Amino acid sequence: ATPISITTAAGRGAQAGVLIKDAEALERMAAVNTLIVDKTGTLTMGKPRLTDTIALGDLPEADLLSLAAALERGSEHPLAAAIVDGAEAQGAARQEATDFEAVTGKGVRGKVGGRSVALGNAAMMKEMALDTAHAEAEADTLRALGKTAMFVAVDGALVGIVAVADPIKESTAQAIDALHAQGLRIIMATGDNERTAQAVADRLGIDEVRAGVLPEDKKTLIDQLRAKGRKIAMAGDGVNDAPALAAADVGIAMGTGADVAMESAGITLLGGDLMGIVRARKLARATLRNIK
Ligand code: ADP
Ligand code: MG
Repeated sequence: ATPISITTAAGRGAQAGVLIKDAEALERMAAVNTLIVDKTGTLTMGKPRLTDTIALGDLPEADLLSLAAALERGSEHPLAAAIVDGAEAQGAARQEATDFEAVTGKGVRGKVGGRSVALGNAAMMKEMALDTAHAEAEADTLRALGKTAMFVAVDGALVGIVAVADPIKESTAQAIDALHAQGLRIIMATGDNERTAQAVADRLGIDEVRAGVLPEDKKTLIDQLRAKGRKIAMAGDGVNDAPALAAADVGIAMGTGADVAMESAGITLLGGDLMGIVRARKLARATLRNIK
């Protein structure tokens, strides 16, 4: 390719929906050898849908869903919207929650109709001193399909599982292949369960999976890899991803995500399409050849 100036690169990027903050972001992008990607909202559409409601005890599925949705009305997590919409679509009774509490990276809890209800991952259940061992096989079946399984507990008993699926974006597989061809190692970092994450990673040929990662740990992961001399680009969409985007050599924000993510990033992909990273990298390389 012909060498180009930074202004030309920025202009071509902007036309293609790739916003480059400054010359430094572009220069660093040329040197990157590792890409860390958030799963939800970055590889996937970020619009999960309720797929399964499984009763583990006597509480009927409709009641399970009603209790879960009552809690999730208080949450802004994409998983919450999936459960609320799914419950409404299935005509589950609407109930109100009080004493609502969100536990970052784990789930939600509160009181519904005089009962204590908790909903979230295994770590959430552990925090409530609940053993999920007898429900893990059921959960694993869902996770192997790339679904996120969440446990429902009522008054200290595990009563069910709800699962949601977040479809992979149409362009993701092609982008991952092109990024591999550019020589990048691709690591998925997600708060989701290991099996769910691995199922999605397998479908895309992602090199490495870091699952069960709390938001603050994404930054730690980046610091560790940089200390080993890796040049890191981090792509993410969420409010929680902002510290990691700032810690990377190049932060890449999905324009479809949170504003604070874009403020922390050197590159913003307007359409939220990962092919923008392939493009940014090509522009970065062409510019660097010109500078040198
Ligand atoms: P991600 O990295 O995929 O954006 P998070 O770190 O936000 O995920 O959450 C990690 C896990 O914690 C989720 O996969 C889910 O099991 C659980 N969790 C988080 N928030 C909620 C919620 N509002 N309702 C139920 N489960 C939740
Ligand atoms: Mg996310």
